[in-house]
Amino acid sequence: RSATRNPIDEVRNVVMDLEMQNYWMPFTANRSFKTAPRLITSAAGVHLIDPDGRRILDGSSGLFCVPAGHCRPEIAKAVSEQLRKLDYTSPFQFSHPGGFRLAEKIASLTPPGLDRIFFANSGSESVDTAMKMALAYHRANGQPSRQRFVSRELAYHGVNFGGLSCGGMVKNREGFGTLLPGVVHMRHTQSQKGTFTRGQADAGHDLADDLQRAVDLHGAESIAAVIVEPVVGSVGILVPPKGYLQRLRQIASQHGILLIFDEVITGFGRTGNRFAAQTFDVQPDLITMAKALTNGAMPMGAVAAGTHIYDTIASAAPENGIEFFHGYTYSAHPVATAAALATIEIFETDGLFEQAADLIGPFQEAVYSLQELPLVTDIRSFGLLAGIDLATAERFGQRGFAALRKLFEAGLMVRVTNDTIILAPPFVMTPTQIEQMVSIVKDVVTRL
Ligand code: PLP
Repeated sequence: RSATRNPIDEVRNVVMDLEMQNYWMPFTANRSFKTAPRLITSAAGVHLIDPDGRRILDGSSGLFCVPAGHCRPEIAKAVSEQLRKLDYTSPFQFSHPGGFRLAEKIASLTPPGLDRIFFANSGSESVDTAMKMALAYHRANGQPSRQRFVSRELAYHGVNFGGLSCGGMVKNREGFGTLLPGVVHMRHTQSQKGTFTRGQADAGHDLADDLQRAVDLHGAESIAAVIVEPVVGSVGILVPPKGYLQRLRQIASQHGILLIFDEVITGFGRTGNRFAAQTFDVQPDLITMAKALTNGAMPMGAVAAGTHIYDTIASAAPENGIEFFHGYTYSAHPVATAAALATIEIFETDGLFEQAADLIGPFQEAVYSLQELPLVTDIRSFGLLAGIDLATAERFGQRGFAALRKLFEAGLMVRVTNDTIILAPPFVMTPTQIEQMVSIVKDVVTRL
């Protein structure tokens, strides 16, 4: 009886009663997870809390989506008020004021000209939406033969069939059939391993000429768009060489090909600006976003489309007809919209874009101190993103997963992919907490 009065024991009792078989977990080794589950029962600020009340530093902002820190009361309040006022209304032929307010707000953050905002519920949906916009644009523009997409090896554009077809992570693709026809993959921009390049490499921008090769081989008239993550996230932080994105833009423009920046990770401050398009000073035709848009509190994604994209599609439709036959039951969901508006307000009132930019120096300084560890074979970092490669263990195969488990035991949550530890701290981490995060990595990797 007295045990259940202790909140930690209460949580623990509930957790011990969990039946595990029904939840089929995503991108998780279900069978092994369920023998030793890593559960989180609450969170606050830059910490996650497990059933034993242990505080775990969130080194990956969840999945890159909680830059303002967990359980922000401003977001909780906005969501709760919205739920009481208007929980749902159809977004087809009806709307609510919040959708318009949020679109206007997002358009104030995106580069000028990228101001038509379409709402989805995830990064994957945003990517597929942007791809369909590209097809619709060319069709409306009298060039319906433009149906190919050019993307990159090692890219991650989500898991729906459009984004998956453009993606370049082999495990995600194999086993799912022929995917979308007509996708051409350019080479990835992984710099030479072991160079510990800080920021952008000086060489390699000519990799963008792969787009020209695709044009030479398939004809510009067959290509709708090229899609890239400005900084590749999920595969372990691949930074574009200097001039690479500029060159892509140049070739795309020359041949009437649309440029899509998938900013699901890089959007909202992660590279030191509102969007990576601004960091690299390259204007895409479409930007996808999700994750940080609601600080992770509600599922939401969006596409910022160039005015010219919207205008072309709209002008091809009958005057009172639907312009774009696409949308989701939960597009601009009132509650997600409220969470996003509250998130952007936090960014603005707390100066989080600036805070993120200020944190980049201390973050990179700390991260590159890991270079001295014998197991660390490469480090790549840009903005508040870092990929730390570990040497593959000859006898045991990949070390990444062991690192994830041991780091978690040591009180740090990270994301790993193969043998790479990815760090992407919340913008509200203090430089001291950054030091603490990196020192946990140092201790654990030294003992791996
Ligand atoms: N695009 C990029 C660049 C991503 O990093 C991700 C997710 O990590 C996605 C798309 C897919 O987003 P979601 O998991 O919300 O569908």
